[in-house]
Amino acid sequence: MKSDRIPFNWPHMTGKELYYIAEAHFNGRLAGDGPYTARCHRLLEERCGSHKALLTHSCTAALEMCALLMDIQPGDEIIMPSYTFVSTANAFVLRGGVPVFVDIRADTLNIDEKLIEAAITPRTRGIAVVHYAGVACEMDAIMDIAARHGLQVIEDAAQGVMARYKGRALGSIGQLGALSFHETKNVISGEGGALLINDPALALRAEIIREKGTDRSRFFRGEVDKYTWQDVGSSFLPGELVAAFLWAQLEDAERITQVRLDAWNRYHDLLHPLETQSALRRPTIPAGCEHNAHMYYVLLAPGIDRQQVLDALKRAEVSSVFHYVPLHSSPAGRRFGRAHGDLVVTDRESERLIRLPLWVGLTKEKQDRVVDVLVEALSAQS
Ligand SMILES: *Cc1c(COP(=O)(O)O)cnc(C)c1O
Repeated sequence: MKSDRIPFNWPHMTGKELYYIAEAHFNGRLAGDGPYTARCHRLLEERCGSHKALLTHSCTAALEMCALLMDIQPGDEIIMPSYTFVSTANAFVLRGGVPVFVDIRADTLNIDEKLIEAAITPRTRGIAVVHYAGVACEMDAIMDIAARHGLQVIEDAAQGVMARYKGRALGSIGQLGALSFHETKNVISGEGGALLINDPALALRAEIIREKGTDRSRFFRGEVDKYTWQDVGSSFLPGELVAAFLWAQLEDAERITQVRLDAWNRYHDLLHPLETQSALRRPTIPAGCEHNAHMYYVLLAPGIDRQQVLDALKRAEVSSVFHYVPLHSSPAGRRFGRAHGDLVVTDRESERLIRLPLWVGLTKEKQDRVVDVLVEALSAQS
């Protein structure tokens, strides 16, 4: 019997992935930086308006490249939200850096730009912002603080592919940006990511770091007659089969985003009555933010037992999940980082958030069922 379960995520295939992979296979180009990688680079550069885009094997790898490019030294501090995925912090901790966690805004759950300046010390090197759910941080204010204090801004735009802030692509505003093409994101290649280099001065070194510390990329362009070890580095590039898969997805990214936005907007309409009854709060999209429907979450009203709601959804075969355990309260976060001030909004909001199923192919009937089950679970508690 076919299960009636509604999964939380279902990876969407465009239909052309295997065709492009077959072509890469037929052409006998399997290592990284082949024709499909070059196509992906060009498309990302054009769409994001970045000086340079480089595919990596994950967003995590792109963030690690950021820490190397910034020459993070032991004790250097990076200001970031605690409400994020571990990779935002780990990338810097790997170089001896110290994450300094500041609180988030209650509306977008993004870093609270008003708290950044007070967290700056003589050791601060940069600000790592996270565009949660593909909704932009207040980048004008953040770029202004960074410029006044001589700091670099790294955008963890893992969730922000195709989203914009005042017309600019997420990941293209700070000196560096990192995208994710992980299976759980909007545009996917299984595992995958990209580094966006917006400061041209960092471009050459980024290529070298990504190619095991060698100037191999320049060699292939015919700019040098042999390639040698130039700098620290590692292997951060994906093979061509992954790039071929990603090309099919990038070609279709606008349609994928539109389909997700339609489903997101439908949830938003259907859940409006629950917000009116103060049973939950829906996501806030500030003016100037064009989001990409990466995620639909709700914040349950105070006093509602989240676990009971999740259990009720589970019994009805609807997969809904909570999100980050804040890094400042995790064992490694306590060991490697420190919190600046009380992170009251982070603690409060992370404990009442649930994410609803959202994927290309989620039917209206399934969405209705998710909402019906949620309504029932909430009324059982009121
Ligand atoms: C998914 C995600 C990452 C990690 O992306 P990978 O491509 O899996 O390495 C990093 N930061 C945030 C905010 C994410 O959502």
